[in-house]
Amino acid sequence: MSRLDVFINRMVSQRACLDYAIDATTGMGGPVFELGLGNGRTFDHLRERMPEREIYVFERKVESNPASTPDEDMTILGDVRETLPQALKRFGPTAQLVHADLGGHNLEKNVLFAKTISPLIEPMLAVGGLMVSSDRMFFENLTEQPIPDTAIQGRCFIYRRD
Ligand code: SAM
Repeated sequence: MSRLDVFINRMVSQRACLDYAIDATTGMGGPVFELGLGNGRTFDHLRERMPEREIYVFERKVESNPASTPDEDMTILGDVRETLPQALKRFGPTAQLVHADLGGHNLEKNVLFAKTISPLIEPMLAVGGLMVSSDRMFFENLTEQPIPDTAIQGRCFIYRRD
């Protein structure tokens, strides 16, 4: 499988899992957290699909396309290892949807990073809230969900606080 194939599979899976999570959390209160702005493509998708919901974006350095850059007051700047614990104090366990796309090209580093941030993300979700991630996460109390048929196994993951 070429890198192009892997990339396309990731994008198709990301959109399918996000669309599923958006529909499944419709009507829940609480904020949405986008972890890793990057170019801003998934942020743009989230805000287009759910303009009525508050989306906070966590990013260490904003370098997104100007057309998909969040407002300053909705941007939580800094390393998520520091900003997630701060956000837990501010918001409590209220998030309806958390999307994380923080990984880079080094798969071993991605696994270690996912292990580091899983316990920081886990307490932020409200009951019924969903977490969508491009990397497998390591949660104690969130349950892994089946991904939609149109997503490719191993390219995106969905977890739920029951
Ligand atoms: N989903 C985005 C999109 O559709 O354009 C792409 C996200 S990109 C793959 C990953 C982003 O996560 C980068 O912008 C990077 O700066 C950010 N990031 C990685 N590690 C981070 C950390 N520890 N704290 C905050 N942001 C981080």
